[in-house]
Amino acid sequence: MSCAYALAKAGAQVQLLERNEIGSGASGGNAGTVAVGHPPLNRRGRLKQVLSSLLDQESPLYIPPRWDPNLWRWLRDFVRYCTDEHVEECMKVMAPLGKKALQSFDDIIEEEAIECGYIRSGYYKVCVTEPGLVSARNEAAAIEAYGYHPECISSEELRRREPEFSSELLGGIHYPESRSLNPLKFLKALTESARLRGARISEGVSVLSMSIISGRVVGLRTNEGEVGADAVVLATGPFSAGILNEVGIQLPLQPGKGYHRDYSLGLGGAPPIKVACELSEASVFCTPMGDFVRFAGTMEFSGLNRVMRTPRLDQLTNAARRCFPGLGSDGPKSEWCGLRPMASDGMPIIGSIQDIKGLSVATGHGMLGLTLGPVTGEMIAREILDADEPQLKKLSPSRFRESTLVNTKNP
Ligand SMILES: Cc1cc2nc3c(=O)[nH]c(=O)nc-3n(C[C@H](O)[C@H](O)[C@H](O)COP(=O)(O)OP(=O)(O)OC[C@H]3O[C@@H](n4cnc5c(N)ncnc54)[C@H](O)[C@@H]3O)c2cc1C
Repeated sequence: MSCAYALAKAGAQVQLLERNEIGSGASGGNAGTVAVGHPPLNRRGRLKQVLSSLLDQESPLYIPPRWDPNLWRWLRDFVRYCTDEHVEECMKVMAPLGKKALQSFDDIIEEEAIECGYIRSGYYKVCVTEPGLVSARNEAAAIEAYGYHPECISSEELRRREPEFSSELLGGIHYPESRSLNPLKFLKALTESARLRGARISEGVSVLSMSIISGRVVGLRTNEGEVGADAVVLATGPFSAGILNEVGIQLPLQPGKGYHRDYSLGLGGAPPIKVACELSEASVFCTPMGDFVRFAGTMEFSGLNRVMRTPRLDQLTNAARRCFPGLGSDGPKSEWCGLRPMASDGMPIIGSIQDIKGLSVATGHGMLGLTLGPVTGEMIAREILDADEPQLKKLSPSRFRESTLVNTKNP
């Protein structure tokens, strides 16, 4: 939607095809934090975590063992990228991009007068164990070196700022630059803005394949017939890999399932928290969204499906209770899961596909797809309409050319 909005705003004639409803993917149900400057998921020591997660449904990262050559190839690549050098390379790209992402968000929200509970007071990363706190502080120091301003705070200070926090918390970090919002409200408002700027939004239209003639994309085949196009932006989350595969392009993408549980505010429900936070050890985000609080997170590599596993959902509630003992005994008002498009090297995949003229992708945003949505739209629009966007050099799908991105069918 961010790409559609930015292209329409720049004067292009845009048609967005969505096979379900707008917001039915990960963008509608995520944790709603605009969190910038953080290192990628690929980090030294992840191999151990990957191996232990093969058996443990309660671990924040869970990979049910199954025979899937694509997953194993992806995991092999993912682990290869778990080096300090790679983290540094990513940070050099993602830290400045994060600053632009914040600006894009502020601009879009102001310019379009979007009402989505936008809170600009940052978020807290809070810890319940000493090793967790040490690791959170190390991460904060690394992020500070890239021009962000994390602040280490004590347990007492945490509770002074947010009285609902548990006394069990040992301390945490405040990331003042971050923001939070209700992602579905944001997405729906952005849809209206794109419409007002002339974009046609077609829901219930499924892209089946791409029409390619002499190495150029000329349209899309859908369940409602052929749609012609001078340019196509494929932004179908983790489903992008399958559509590209049909034309011989392989992208190292896997769906990373995450869950949310929403609790209404009030007696028996969620306490009135003011600012978003992440319970570090459990990787669970707690975000106030008006009259409810969303607890969201965990990562599961179980394929392209939206089967909900109760133990994974229970993890959210357990973490929430540890952080906020005031969470009541009423059940959640809603439960949900969604699929993040995870690239094996931990960076988004944005830009034109070299072998097929007119075709671009905007995917692989992993845990940062909300954060990077608006800035991605702006970069895609510039690349398509101005034929140049230097910022995309390091994010381009061509970076996988040597290893995993191959055009086997040469359409
Ligand atoms: C639990 C959870 C918490 C998260 N928290 C945050 C957060 O706090 N901050 C953050 O920045 N990011 C967060 N994320 C990540 C973020 O939600 C994703 O990176 C982002 O939503 C991906 O956006 P997308 O547009 O690529 O995919 P999606 O939002 O999934 O959109 C893809 C759309 O394509 C449609 N589609 C698929 N195939 C076809 C087809 N063949 N034809 C037509 N349409 C099709 C789908 O129906 C879907 O609507 C979180 C994710 C999860 C799961």
